[in-house]
Amino acid sequence: MYWADKLIQNLDKNKTHRVDDGSTPSGHYHVGSLRAVLTHGLAYEAMNHANFKVDFTYFFNDMDPMDGLPVYLDKKIYEEHMGKPLYKIPAPDGKSASFAKQYASEYIDSFNKMGFRPEIFWSSELYESGSMNDNVRTMLDNAPEIRKIYLEVAKQSKPDNWYPLQVICPNCQKIGTTIVTDWDSHEVTYECKPDLVEWARGCGHQGKISPFDGRAKLMWKVDWAAMWARLGVTVEGAGKDHMTAGGSHEIASEIARRVLKITVPFSFMNEFFLIGGAKMSSSKGKGFRATDLLTILPPAVAKFLFVRTPYRTALNFDPSRPETIPDLFDDYDRHAAAWFENGDKTPLGRIYQASQLGDTSTEKLFLPRFRVVAKLIQMPGVDLEKYFSDEKKSPLNEKEKEILAERVRYSKIWMKEFASSEERVEIKDKLPESAKKLSEDQKTFLKDLHQLLTTKEFADGEALQTEIFELAKINPAGPKGCFVSIYTIFIDKTYGPKAGWFMLDLLKKDKEFVLKRLTQL
Ligand SMILES: [Zn+2]
Repeated sequence: MYWADKLIQNLDKNKTHRVDDGSTPSGHYHVGSLRAVLTHGLAYEAMNHANFKVDFTYFFNDMDPMDGLPVYLDKKIYEEHMGKPLYKIPAPDGKSASFAKQYASEYIDSFNKMGFRPEIFWSSELYESGSMNDNVRTMLDNAPEIRKIYLEVAKQSKPDNWYPLQVICPNCQKIGTTIVTDWDSHEVTYECKPDLVEWARGCGHQGKISPFDGRAKLMWKVDWAAMWARLGVTVEGAGKDHMTAGGSHEIASEIARRVLKITVPFSFMNEFFLIGGAKMSSSKGKGFRATDLLTILPPAVAKFLFVRTPYRTALNFDPSRPETIPDLFDDYDRHAAAWFENGDKTPLGRIYQASQLGDTSTEKLFLPRFRVVAKLIQMPGVDLEKYFSDEKKSPLNEKEKEILAERVRYSKIWMKEFASSEERVEIKDKLPESAKKLSEDQKTFLKDLHQLLTTKEFADGEALQTEIFELAKINPAGPKGCFVSIYTIFIDKTYGPKAGWFMLDLLKKDKEFVLKRLTQL
């Protein structure tokens, strides 16, 4: 059974559901961050598929302070903003509305491309609009109970004047440096402390202020519970770093039950998404970004990666290994074949269906093998559409032509970025050294081939292939030895694409070059 169908199978169908996920937009999102949003998105789609009443939301904690500087940003410019809420910091690109908006938009774009379009919420807007005011009041009124929860669940002892709220300092605009020490039902007493955190310095300002309408924000574990209540969330999981005993999810859950008196959303723990075996941490700021994944894989194939891997299994994807991407396409095609054969009746077929972005039809499609496309595009003048129509034994339809064009695009990228040198077919400008090792029989074959090509024209690769084979059969080197001689003198390899088509394409491009090379030995 497909993991997302199984994950949601015991949820109450009579209830209206909301699947929610969220994050802090503190810089470029790492590819690893896609695991959480996709797990939620796929759970949402599986619920839709099972006819639940459900929607999907995503919230950005854009009121969180900047508490670290990504390596790609200029320290001189951003140091003064450390500790300020992310939505009040100018965007590095100079165009976006804020720092938070710039990076969030980039991330939204990457999951939008895979077909996920949750309704987006911004902490700053929820707080500023006053719609969090009730939650802020409840949490402040219940501060003693929340302190008790921290002690019981996380063994963290908070002083009696600790409140789960941080105000934006009216003097220096920082939120990461402030503490609240009292609450009189109208205003909180706050202090902006110079030495509260290592990454930012408070201004020392203190006073009283109303905590409502966006002047302050609940601390995140408390805020998480408040968001469940505010958005009416029924399904929300988290990465395993949040799901440890005494961790943030457990604290938020206790606050939800004991303070807000709400049902804790159905929860699950998604595993990490690893690239090449190492956990990609967003704080390091380097490496593979969420947006990068969609530059090396088409959306449905990228989505397939997450659909085929159960959410509790660590996903280890290493595109730098030359076989990874062609293998992924082959596996995708295998699932597609199951879908065209039996629809969603087999897990394979269902996984293919769940990987699609739009409507799925069981109309059989011809999928050109990625590996073959990658080989063919390296040859000048190959008519790919004709090649694959021949393989299919009928013309490609519009949809198949689109798929072919897409695979051409992505195989070029793979070839450039990840393919090993063995996979690259490169016509050598000069006769390779290895040609000297060819036997007399092989040389004779090349002369015969030269003779053939100067005296006869060939309409298609098939016809030329047949004649080359006839020549090879009568040569003592045998077909294998003869074909090796062709690949040796043109691409310096002992194997290559089908000789008939390969030679014909070369002839079309530069006949003089081909004939000269054949007699150069
Ligand atoms: Zn201050």
